Amino acid sequence: MRDPLTSLINTPAAPRQKLMAIIIGSVMFVISLIAIPFASTPLIHIKPFMSIVIAWVMFGYFMTSYLLYIQFQVTRYKPILILSATFLYSGLITIPEILTFPEVFAQEGLLNAGPQSPIWFWICWHAGFPLGVFMYAFSLRRWSFASTERKGKAGSGAIFGGVIVILAGLTYLLTKHHELLPVIIRGGKYNELITMGIGPVLSLMNLAALVYLYVMTRGQSLLHLWLLLSVFMLFLDLAVTQFAGARYSLGWYLSCVNSLISSTVVLFVFFHQMNRLYVRLIMSQSALKQSQERVALILDSITDAFFAVDRQWGYTYTNKEAEKYYGFTFDEVKGQSIWEISPQLAKTKLSEMCHRVMDQGEPVEFTEYDKLRGRWLEIRVYPSRDGISVYFRDVTERIVAEEQMKEANKKLQMANRLLTDFSYTDGLTGVYNRRYFDQMMQQEWERMKREKSPLSLIMLDIDYFKKYNDTYGHLAGDECLCQVAQAIRTVVIHPLYVMARYGGEEFGVILPQTDAAKAMEVAEAIRVYLESLAFPHTASEVGSIVTCSLGTATRLPEHTLPDDTPSMLIAQADQALYLAKQAGRNCVVADTGIVIARK
Ligand code: GH3
Ligand code: MG
Ligand code: MG
Repeated sequence: MRDPLTSLINTPAAPRQKLMAIIIGSVMFVISLIAIPFASTPLIHIKPFMSIVIAWVMFGYFMTSYLLYIQFQVTRYKPILILSATFLYSGLITIPEILTFPEVFAQEGLLNAGPQSPIWFWICWHAGFPLGVFMYAFSLRRWSFASTERKGKAGSGAIFGGVIVILAGLTYLLTKHHELLPVIIRGGKYNELITMGIGPVLSLMNLAALVYLYVMTRGQSLLHLWLLLSVFMLFLDLAVTQFAGARYSLGWYLSCVNSLISSTVVLFVFFHQMNRLYVRLIMSQSALKQSQERVALILDSITDAFFAVDRQWGYTYTNKEAEKYYGFTFDEVKGQSIWEISPQLAKTKLSEMCHRVMDQGEPVEFTEYDKLRGRWLEIRVYPSRDGISVYFRDVTERIVAEEQMKEANKKLQMANRLLTDFSYTDGLTGVYNRRYFDQMMQQEWERMKREKSPLSLIMLDIDYFKKYNDTYGHLAGDECLCQVAQAIRTVVIHPLYVMARYGGEEFGVILPQTDAAKAMEVAEAIRVYLESLAFPHTASEVGSIVTCSLGTATRLPEHTLPDDTPSMLIAQADQALYLAKQAGRNCVVADTGIVIARK
């Protein structure tokens, strides 16, 4: 609104402009000064001259008034309204002047005026203009440019209405009652203008307006600079007129020229400024077009597809990639609703996200499968100044590759697990094998060392198994091994305990965080359970059922010597097992020497 480019009042006057104003003022001043001694020299009567001058003056004043009013509408700055009214008044007052001027429209002038009427209109013009300028300069004090109000209609109506009323009143007075007017023109001369003091007063008024305007504005802005010149030229007009003393004299012609300049200088500045603005507009338009083309080039060169829609969902842009993907060109869809062009989008995540971004103004990013085209899209939606922008890229290849990779990984994992299972399980009994047992012994040994906890081990051996084989056959022996393994597994349910087939008909149970007493308890539970199952073994010397002997051993790994290994614990447990065999089988012996024998 208050951009200096759009408002003459705050466009600073360039030094060149100032120089120009000074030159015009000075030249006219010097010409007027030189002409003053010859001012009263009568010249030929050019009758149409007066009409031409007044037509020009009127045009100048009216146009300036109108353009100032436009400036007021743009800026809502009240003082401009006063100035506009001043120019309007000056233009209007010249109408009755020319109408009543003798020998223009009628021999004695129109409107039933008297011979004094035109000069009085002239006086009103030359008094009204400086008065208006004075009021304008005064109003600059009251209203600073920044504090403009948005209340203009009533104000402008009142001011322009006031001007019309004053004009009508003056016209009525100066025509209808012209006989009351003091006589200024006598015998074609208007010397009374000076002798009555009217001329000097008018000159003083113009001078005062000039000085006051200068004090208030210093002629810094374009408008004020040329308004100063306008007032100065009217002052020169007055001065020269007074020395002329009669119409159609040298001074009179010159004063007419002065008034021409006075009435049109501001207008010319308007034209000049408008022209400059127009040139700038053209230049900025071409710059805008260039930058738009650049942006389009960039948007087309990005590999992402991109389109933009306004708040009414109308397409405002699509780049080449988007056109390729959707199969339309921007010109075909420009301004049309995205939902009308692509109704299949209505129930998609894209639609949901677009609405969300439009409502909330936060960008979102997501991946969606385009069912229609069978493509995976990675989509980003951003809020923009007048709607939203959508970038998307086809990531189908990537997603498919990822899926394939996942599938392959899964298979690999399964294969790995199978492999691990095979390598750690005993083929016959399905329990962990010796390899796993050894690994776990090592692992738990280290862990108990760190935790400063005891590690226990149970070694189990089936009694008289050779005889079992001999009696029932090797296959039955295998079957028996499986049943014993199952029996041990039923008793050893603690998640930390690890049971494995150690070799032949021997099994081992690793018991982390378990002391000797607890280990014996577990061992005894196994022995009792197997006994209770009462698998027949007629050849056994212990009884007629399958039994086992168990040896337990316990160590605190942290207290062992640095070169101690888990095999020490195994050897201890083996030793205890040997003792259990010695003790008559079907019993538990601890490395501490404690024996739990069968009842
Ligand atoms: P003890 O009470 O002293 O342990 O007597 P034993 O007969 O069980 O002792 P020995 O170690 O002499 O016999 C072990 C037998 O276990 C020898 C072998 O035939 C049998 N055996 C080892 N592994 C298997 C197997 O996988 N299947 C079968 N059926 N028998 C096995
Ligand atoms: Mg054995
Ligand atoms: Mg045995």
